[in-house]
Amino acid sequence: MNDASPEQRLAEVRSTIEKAARLASRKPEDVTLIAVSKTHPVEAIRPLIAAGQRDFGENRVQEAEAKWPALRSETSDLRLHLIGSLQSNKASEAVALFDAIHSVDRASLVAALAKAMERQERRPECFLQVNVGDEPQKGGCAVADLPALLAEAAEAGLRIEGLMAIPPADREPAPYFALLDELAERHALPLRSMGMSGDYPTAVMLGATHVRVGTALFGARD
Ligand SMILES: *Cc1c(COP(=O)(O)O)cnc(C)c1O
Repeated sequence: MNDASPEQRLAEVRSTIEKAARLASRKPEDVTLIAVSKTHPVEAIRPLIAAGQRDFGENRVQEAEAKWPALRSETSDLRLHLIGSLQSNKASEAVALFDAIHSVDRASLVAALAKAMERQERRPECFLQVNVGDEPQKGGCAVADLPALLAEAAEAGLRIEGLMAIPPADREPAPYFALLDELAERHALPLRSMGMSGDYPTAVMLGATHVRVGTALFGARD
């Protein structure tokens, strides 16, 4: 796996997604693979674009601003996802650059994003991040606060299409994926952003529509 080419790694991850989807009687094309390219230079990203990958994830606005304008000028149909926590004072840059924002998790950020979207007349797809493991150090709104935050986001005019979560690192992730799926279902949201290199097959079986995979595609980060 480690000396596999980027193309081989991509094929491997795609085939794993396909198998997991079929096991759960889901359609593989209902799962979007987001290649998480944070920390990796454009030279490492180009081979995946050449192999047909179109959705990419970054966790920092500034890093994405440095890398993606060049890549986008070479390939017009790329979709860029912000998967990391977002400060309200970067909302405007995030709205300008990203096609989807997975980390909407508090009222102040909802307000900042709504203002930026109105000004730019640009409406990236949004996911509300939920702190499914109730971890104090982690981003995401508390499960109990989700209905209120969803109402605020709708009121502000955000396009909330789904939920996102990162389960606790040291636990079996399946119950947390099942919880996120159930919360999305309850609020009639079609999308679920869940699953990373270590657990994306499980996430796909439990309803993920977007998996965020870095290490399995690019190798370890420094
Ligand atoms: C870095 C990151 C990922 C990718 O993690 P891997 O384990 O490298 O696949 C996924 N989601 C988020 C929110 C991340 O920050």
